Parts: sequence; C-alpha cells; structure tokens
Amino acid sequence: MVKVRFAPSPTGNLHIGGARTALFNWMYAKAQGGQFVLRVEDTDLERSKPEYEAEILNSMAWLGLTWDEFYKQSDRFPLYREHAQKLLDEGRAYRDGTAVLLKVDKGREIKFDDLIRGLISFNTDEIKDQVLMKSDGSPAYSFSCVVDDALMGITHVIRGEDHISNTPKQILIYEALGFKAPKFGHLPLIMGADGARLSKRFGAVAVSDYKGEGFLPDGLVNYLMLLGWSPGNQEIVNLAQACTKFSIKKVNKTAAQFDMEKLRWVNAQYIKHCDTVRLADLIIPMLKEEGWVDGSSDRRRIETAVDLYKGRMSTLRDFLERAGYLFMKEISLTEEMLAELRGKDLSQPFSLLAERLSKADVFDVATTEKVFRELVVDLGMTSGDLVHPVRLALSASSVGPGLFETMAVLGRDRTVARLQKAY
Ligand code: GLU
Repeated sequence: MVKVRFAPSPTGNLHIGGARTALFNWMYAKAQGGQFVLRVEDTDLERSKPEYEAEILNSMAWLGLTWDEFYKQSDRFPLYREHAQKLLDEGRAYRDGTAVLLKVDKGREIKFDDLIRGLISFNTDEIKDQVLMKSDGSPAYSFSCVVDDALMGITHVIRGEDHISNTPKQILIYEALGFKAPKFGHLPLIMGADGARLSKRFGAVAVSDYKGEGFLPDGLVNYLMLLGWSPGNQEIVNLAQACTKFSIKKVNKTAAQFDMEKLRWVNAQYIKHCDTVRLADLIIPMLKEEGWVDGSSDRRRIETAVDLYKGRMSTLRDFLERAGYLFMKEISLTEEMLAELRGKDLSQPFSLLAERLSKADVFDVATTEKVFRELVVDLGMTSGDLVHPVRLALSASSVGPGLFETMAVLGRDRTVARLQKAY
C-alpha cells in the first residue's frame, strides 16, 4: 500500500510551498488508495515553537488535508538513539565527542530514479561523513527522517526540490540501517512573479495570511494543485475530482510560477459558486470586525448583499471593499465623485426621488424601480441620465449590481439620506 508523509518543521508557519507539497502527497495518497502521515519534525528544540505547530495543523485542517497518522519527532528521541547505537555497535558509525557520525565510503555512485526528474546520481566523493546525532543529543534531520520514514513504512517520499541533495545522504543511511529505501519524487520550486524564490518579500506566504485575506480553502487548494501539475483542459477542479486524475509522473520538472492574479481568478470561481449561507457565515465575522454589523443585524439582508456581490469578488475581503457601503452608516465620496455630481445639477430629481422613495408603500426592488422610472418620465429625462449619479451617491462607486437591487438592500433610510446629502 502507498504511504506518504508530509513532514513540516514547526519553525515557521505553513507557507504556500509547504502546502503544495502537503497537497501533492495527499492527492497521491488518495489517488492510490493509500495513506497520508503528518509528521512534525520538531527536533530543533530551539527553533521549533508550539504556536507554529498549531498554525500548521490549523492550516492543514482548513485546507482539508486530513491525516491518517500523526507523529511528533520530539516524542521519538529514544528510537533515534537506539538506531544510532546500532550503527555504532556495527562499526558503521563513530563518535566524535558526543556526536555520532556515519562513515561514508568514497568513490561510490549513488543513484535513484526520481519519480519526477528521472535518474539522478551523486558521487560519494562529494558527501562528507554524516552527522546522525548532534552533540546536544538531538538527531540530525536526515537521520530522524530516515529512521521515521523506514519505521512508518513510507513508500514514497515526495518533497521539495531543495531536498534533492539530501536524498543520496539519506540513501546511505537507509543502506547502513539495512532498510529498503522508498521511492523519491522532488517537486519543482515555486517562484514569485519576479522569477525569484517565493519569499516574504513577495508578499503573503503563509496559508493563514490567505485565509485572513478571504481566500476560500477550496479555491486555494485548486490553485495550489496547478503549481506544477495540470488536471487537463479544465483548470477548475475540486480536490475529489483532482485525486482521481492525479499522477506524480505528470508533475512538471520546471519551476512553477506563483501568479496572484490567477489565484484571485480561481478563488473568484469558487466564491461565485459557493453557497450563500456558507459565504455569509464567513463574511459576517469580518463585517463585525469592521464594526458594521452586530448580533442584531438582519441576516437575510446580509445574505441578499452577499448574493448580489458573489459574482463580483475575488476574495471575501473584496466584499468589505465593494459592498461595505451597504453596512456603513455614512459613506464619503472622493473629491472627483463630488465634482462629478456637482457638474450636473440634479438637485431636483434627487430631492424628488428621495421624497417619493420615502413615501413608497414598500421598499423592494420592484417598487424602487417603479418610482424611479415614473420620476424619469415625469421629468422628461432618461434613466441613463440618472442611474449613474444615483449609484455614485448611494455607493461611492460607479460600478456595482443593479441599482434597484442596491437600493432594496441598502434600505429606505440610508437610500433617502444619501440622496438628500448629495445635493
Ligand atoms: N522537515 C523537513 C522540511 O520541512 C522535511 C523534509 C522532508 O520532507 O524530508 O523541510
């Protein structure tokens, strides 16, 4: 049975690159009917932090990348010591002070058939004796990694390309311990738009930052799967569908480029098709944080607003930006907007519209439209003369959903007040 693992070090948050590695392992496990292990590599006691571990676990869960088994290397130090002792006893390793090192014979060719990159070979002349246990008694990364991958029955090690040079060293450790080496696959790096490695400089790298920005987990997952793999002619595929098609052999060798615009586009597709109730559940806390709604706010009204905007936003945060005017008590128009309104004298139609709307029996889409159309006819204007200025006055924006939908969800009081304030 296929068994893969994702082995993050809790020395930082789960970043986009790590999440892509986790995702590809997860998809491979599902595609093969195998298992996925999450192993926290917290052997560096100085740099590992419980808050990073918590953040990584939360981000994994948020992305929907569930695990079948969970381990922490800090619980397994006796096992590493035991295996180091075995190598010492067999004369394959030696002590240097309190550290334990593996003897590496020179002049050997170490080859492996990478699942993605094909045959790769290293000469052991380039490989120094390997530290297995450090002098502080903690295991070196490659040693605990090999002991665990072997004891956990990992069949395929799929990880970032930055680990390629560790693989021959690890193969030597498998050999020394008498364990069969798994298959290896090294994923291409992810580059920022400038062609440099993805880094903080580039902007958000932590999965939790994307969550905070209002990306949906399914949108982010869909985008991540496109970084180095193609699900076919259709780029919008959910995780379950992707798993049926995923093949590690089809992963690209060349670096993938992180494209924020593409991510936003993918996310927009997920928002557009997302259930309004779920979207509202995600958006309401953000509105509360802004102080725009509270516990007594009308949930139906919020859902109507979400419905109006879900085809017009790429992230949930866009909703705050674009639909915030529906929830704010007052809006402020920019100088240009004010100048635009002042440029046309619409004080009469605005005040009449405000007056008639304030007297309308009900305040819904059909009624506001009827009032508006009648007014336009009465004044001998065209709808076109008035739609844009009214929209500007109500929303401080020249784009948005239908004007009457906007009025209905904005509500009578705010609509009338904003019309009166405009002139
Ligand atoms: N803890 C290592 C890392 O985060 C794991 C590398 C591996 O997958 O072997 O880079």
